Amino acid sequence: MAVIKKVLITMQGRKFYAKSLEEDLHTQYGFIRKEELKEAKEGSLLKSNTGREFYVFNPHFIDEYRKIKRDAQIVPLKDIGLIIAETGINKKSKVLDAGSGSGALACFLAAIAKEVVTYEIRDDFIEIVKQNIDFLQLKNIKIRKKDIYNEIGDKGFDVVILDLPEPWKAIESCSKALKPGGFIVSYSPSVPQVADFVNALRKNENFVYLKTAEITEREWEVEERKVRPKSQGLGHSGFLSFGRKVA
Ligand code: SAH
Repeated sequence: MAVIKKVLITMQGRKFYAKSLEEDLHTQYGFIRKEELKEAKEGSLLKSNTGREFYVFNPHFIDEYRKIKRDAQIVPLKDIGLIIAETGINKKSKVLDAGSGSGALACFLAAIAKEVVTYEIRDDFIEIVKQNIDFLQLKNIKIRKKDIYNEIGDKGFDVVILDLPEPWKAIESCSKALKPGGFIVSYSPSVPQVADFVNALRKNENFVYLKTAEITEREWEVEERKVRPKSQGLGHSGFLSFGRKVA
């Protein structure tokens, strides 16, 4: 995957990514010459051949993150927000993630945590995760080709996040991997998964159950005095259940 070299943004907030400074950048608003792209200073204004203006800057983490490869359903940003807020993941945190899928969650967390270890059983997904790690140039993610439902060797985690078909099967192995006071988080799209996970967590004396929540993000349209929720319906992603290791 080509690394993004420059981000261009119109007054209306439309974004474009220049992956090469050796080629003109073509957009539906005309094209920008490679010479201008190359010489543009951060924050400067460029004009396309049709006169449309673009602000130009170097990519930030989130610009690149939005371009990663995705195959399995990834955890959306709104839900990553709650995971970080509830568990307080920070630059000292050691985080365990399973399954990796496309590695979207693992990569986002690696950008803010000390270390992320991600478990995945499928080779095709591991390949995608490796490409995404490379693309984002992350150095603090380890991939393990292992079944998280079985005994795992890794230990000393502050937070474990499960995005798996049967998360209750990982409670036992994760209990050994977590530090006392560490958080277990399960992300599941459907209600029976939530019920089975929370019931199993409640029965396990090593954990206390904290809460289950769903994040609804409703985007609004703001055009002069036409201020209203966007017409597109609200989608569903998943429920987040939180517990804490106590013993
Ligand atoms: N959170 C990921 C998406 C995970 S999709 C992201 O944001 O990109 C769920 C993944 O779990 C799939 O790739 C699947 O292969 C993997 N998986 C299923 N059972 C597993 C197990 N027992 N151990 C490890 N990984 C597993």
